Amino acid sequence: MPHCHTPVHQCRVCLSNRILDAGVTKRYHLMNLNETVEIGYAVCQDCHFLFHANYVGDAYLDHYYRNSPMLRRKAPTPYELDQNARQAAFLSRYTHLQNQHILEIGAHAGAFLVHLQQTYQAQTYYDELSEEACAILRAQPGLQDLRDAPAGTRMNVIVLRHILEHIHDLDSFLTRVRSLLADDGTLFIETPDWSHLDALTDPLIFEHLNQFSTHQLTLLLRRLGWNCAAIEKSVFPDDPATPNRVQRLLFRPTALPPPGDARIAASTAQFFTHYHRRLFGALEDLVTAWGPEKRIAFYPASHLSFSALLEARLEAANIIGLYDIDEKKHGREVCGVRVYPADALREHRPDVIVLFTMAYEREIRESFARMGLTAELVSATALARSDLPASPARP
Ligand SMILES: [Zn+2]
Repeated sequence: MPHCHTPVHQCRVCLSNRILDAGVTKRYHLMNLNETVEIGYAVCQDCHFLFHANYVGDAYLDHYYRNSPMLRRKAPTPYELDQNARQAAFLSRYTHLQNQHILEIGAHAGAFLVHLQQTYQAQTYYDELSEEACAILRAQPGLQDLRDAPAGTRMNVIVLRHILEHIHDLDSFLTRVRSLLADDGTLFIETPDWSHLDALTDPLIFEHLNQFSTHQLTLLLRRLGWNCAAIEKSVFPDDPATPNRVQRLLFRPTALPPPGDARIAASTAQFFTHYHRRLFGALEDLVTAWGPEKRIAFYPASHLSFSALLEARLEAANIIGLYDIDEKKHGREVCGVRVYPADALREHRPDVIVLFTMAYEREIRESFARMGLTAELVSATALARSDLPASPARP
C-alpha cells in the first residue's frame, strides 16, 4: 500500500505557517509491512515543534497499526507495575481518584486502569480500536468498554499515556477528549519529552509524528481551551515506555481565551473585578454591620491593608490604627491612619482586629493570644475565599 505524501504547511501546535525544513531525513524499515519508507522532518520557526514534514495519511497509518501486532501480555511485568505506581503517584497528588470515572484512550493491556481500580476503587473505562487489545481488556476484571457506557457518561479523569505523539489531527482528537470529560475533570498526558535535545532525548521513530516539548504541549492544549495544572519530568532507566526523559502533565478545561485572542483583556478585567469583590466585598459588609461603635484595628501595615484603605468603601468604619511589629513603620501614616507598634494593641483595646496577611496568620494569632487580647479576629484572606462568585477562570 503506497503512503501518500501530504506536505504539512501549518504548525499543528501554534498554527504558524513559518515551517522550516529541519534538514533531517530518516529511512525507516517497517518490518510488519515489509517496506522501507523515507520521512523528512519539519520544524516550526515560531514554537519549535518538530514533526513529520509529510503526513503519510490516515489510511496508511491504519494499515500500519492493523498489521502491527504489539506485544501485549495480560499480566503486567514488574516494570509495568512500577511505572503504573509512579504515574498514579503523580496523578493522585493533584487529582481525587477515589471512586472516580477514569477513561484511558489506547489502554494497551489495561494494567494502569487495573491499578487505578484496585488502588482507588475507580470506575475504569477503555477506548481502544485494536480488536486484539479489546479482547485482552475485556478479560480484565472490572474494566468497561467505553462503547458500553451509558450515552453522555462524562469522565472525571482521561488518561493519554504515549498516545498524543502518534496523532496527526490533534485538534479533532483533543476536541473529542474534551467532549468525554466532565467540566471539572482532569486530563493526564504522558509523552516522551523533546524539550532538551540531549542524550536523554528519545530517538526519532516512524510512529511518532510529533516530537513535543513541554512548551509545545502546554501551548497546544492552551490553544484548545485547557490549562496546565501540574508537570513532572522523569528519567527512569527501567521504564517500559522509554529509558529517556518523559513528561507528565495534567490539564483542566479553562474559560480563558486562547493565545492571540483579544478577549484576554476583557477576561483579565473581569477576573480582577471579581477578585476585588472577593477581597473587599465581605469586609465592606462587615464594616457596615459593625457601624461606628466598633473600634477596628488593621494588622499588619502592609500592601493588603493599604489596598483595603485605598480601594474598599470603609467610610463608615471606625479604624483606630494600623499595627505592625516593624519599627521602621511606626509613627507613619497611610491614608490618614497611623501605624502603631503591635504592643499598643494591649492598650488601645480594639473590638475587632482585621488580619491582612497572606502567611504568618497562625503565628500572629498565637502572639495575640500571648498578649491576652480579647478582640474579635477577622481574617481578610479567609473572607476573600468565602461564598463568592467563582472567577471566570478556574484554578
Ligand atoms: Zn508552531
